Amino acid sequence: MTIRLHVDADLAEGADVAVSPAQAHYLGSVMRLGPGDPVILFNGRDGEWAARLAEVNRKAARLVVETRLRPQAPEPDVWLLFAPPKGPRLDFVTEKATELGAALLRPVFTRRSVVTRVNEEKMRAHLIEAAEQCERLTVPVLAPPAPLDRALAEWPSDRRLFVLAEHGPSRPLAEALTPGPAGFLVGPEGGFDKTELDALAGLPFAVAVGLGPRILRAETAALAALACWQARHGDWAVGPAFRS
Ligand code: SAH
Repeated sequence: MTIRLHVDADLAEGADVAVSPAQAHYLGSVMRLGPGDPVILFNGRDGEWAARLAEVNRKAARLVVETRLRPQAPEPDVWLLFAPPKGPRLDFVTEKATELGAALLRPVFTRRSVVTRVNEEKMRAHLIEAAEQCERLTVPVLAPPAPLDRALAEWPSDRRLFVLAEHGPSRPLAEALTPGPAGFLVGPEGGFDKTELDALAGLPFAVAVGLGPRILRAETAALAALACWQARHGDWAVGPAFRS
């Protein structure tokens, strides 16, 4: 399969694109590609393009952009706010939320959060890698990690926030989902504090939803919710792009 890379440069027919040293290392040393080999490029703005390697060495590579394979298209309008789980579970939710088409991810810190910092650079690298691999045309936005209060204060009032509430009153997810801009909020391994759920219940844009009688791991809850939303209101009616 042709390698797909996310780049920052503008993409257009005939454009000359220099990739990062890490990407050059990957193309030249890891994948052992050479001049003339095809690579697919996207930048989140100009669609997806067929390109060819012009030069590659251990530290630098240059590609020439040829033809556009797909025009840019908007992503489904769903966000994920989540209390970050530890290490590999954070990597997992980052990768899978990208595959499931989340447009934006924002780590939030709640009262029972054990993880209180996120390595944004590492998380961004995982978002890019997952976007390259799953054939997205964009990389999800990584909104700055913030305390839950601040994330809620900044929440756009025209976007519904489905709060995955493991306790207290809630509506079944499939019944509660509505069309239009959406987001999900998932709590930490220790769950939401009662005061947090009470505060959330008072917000006009928030709806508490349940995922059934079993207590799910935070990452399972996040991915299950995104999958339900995609099936109901997202782009799952569209098949993967066909390329000969
Ligand atoms: N330790 C808590 C569970 C936390 S699960 C307890 O024992 O009660 C982590 C997060 O996943 C929760 O905060 C919630 O956002 C989500 N979650 C897990 N199971 C859920 C369910 N059945 N319904 C809705 N949300 C759920």
